[in-house]
Amino acid sequence: MRRCSPNRSWSTDRPKLVKIRQIRLYQHDLGVRDGRYDMSISHVESLDSTVVAIETDTGLVGYGETCPLGPAYQPQHAAGARAALGQVAPYVLGLDASCIGLVNDAMDAALLGHGYAKAAIDIACWDLVGRQRHERVCDLLGGARNDPVPSYYGILPTDPVDAAAQAVALQDQGFGRLQIKTGKDGVDVDIAVTRAVAEVTRPGVKLLADANRGWTQRDAILFSEACADIPLALEQPCNTMAENAALRGRVRHPVFLDESADSVAAVMEAIETGVAQGFGMKVSRVGGISKMATVIAMCSARSIPLTCDDTWGGDITAATTVHLGASVPSRLFEGTWIAEPYTASSYHCRTAPITNGQGHIDVPSGPGLGVEPNLELWPDPIAVFG
Ligand SMILES: [Mg+2]
Repeated sequence: MRRCSPNRSWSTDRPKLVKIRQIRLYQHDLGVRDGRYDMSISHVESLDSTVVAIETDTGLVGYGETCPLGPAYQPQHAAGARAALGQVAPYVLGLDASCIGLVNDAMDAALLGHGYAKAAIDIACWDLVGRQRHERVCDLLGGARNDPVPSYYGILPTDPVDAAAQAVALQDQGFGRLQIKTGKDGVDVDIAVTRAVAEVTRPGVKLLADANRGWTQRDAILFSEACADIPLALEQPCNTMAENAALRGRVRHPVFLDESADSVAAVMEAIETGVAQGFGMKVSRVGGISKMATVIAMCSARSIPLTCDDTWGGDITAATTVHLGASVPSRLFEGTWIAEPYTASSYHCRTAPITNGQGHIDVPSGPGLGVEPNLELWPDPIAVFG
């Protein structure tokens, strides 16, 4: 353990600078299991992922990823992410990757917004620092409070009988939190499906109805009234922060925000105004690990439960969400969702795939994110800076 000594100069004890020498962008197409994934107001048939590799003058390489859930889930665009990364990359070259705050400052000075693109560089820097110090990212964040990390699973839009069967099977597998996807086929169907799932839900298992912005205020109020006897939370029932704010006092259930929790400031507003009693957080949407750590601290200060997820992606994204999830105080942690069960293909890695078997995800044990891409099997980078 490093100890503070009046006779020791900190300057000689400081880890060697890790100047960013080169930034490479890789593009991967991730297949969707069964060819299609339906949400309330959009669907995807494949995912366009961008992986950022940051190489330092010491030869260390760190990785980050951003993978929007198609172009219509929220204001994120895969090609737009790559354009934004091309805009900020020259301003990041030459910086010390371990000074992650300064790296974020440089990105913000070079480009307004586009946090989902900048997130990939922020994540790669955290990976680099962990590799440099031989520590896991969750340890850099304060230690693993949850290991393995509990996971949760979505029940996609379907009929009541099938939804109940899925719920039984998922609980048998060990999942302790079920998210019923609603908002697609009408509120009457949503109520019937939710009641069917509730009838087979075991004590202690958490339920959510996630409309993915798909309900009107009327739908949300009617649903909540019809399901008032079911202990569950409504996730992102309506489209905007204002629409969800209008539900206060009109619904019988707590409201979690997901799509509207698109920045640290938005989370702060939702907590301060009482719009949300919980969050489904997406790491890239809020701007990376640094900003998610701020969100976790804010939620901890107000005893607000949250998840640590992202908008699909491969093992690098999964590892990012798992390390963050591991760091959340256990009493507030609602679980980590990963895309692995929903994807038909990913990019090659030397490390074992990150999976959510038995309702839990093991925290990768290697330094940094603990994911080692197998670049021998990857296509050439689509852009190189530096
Ligand atoms: Mg959601």
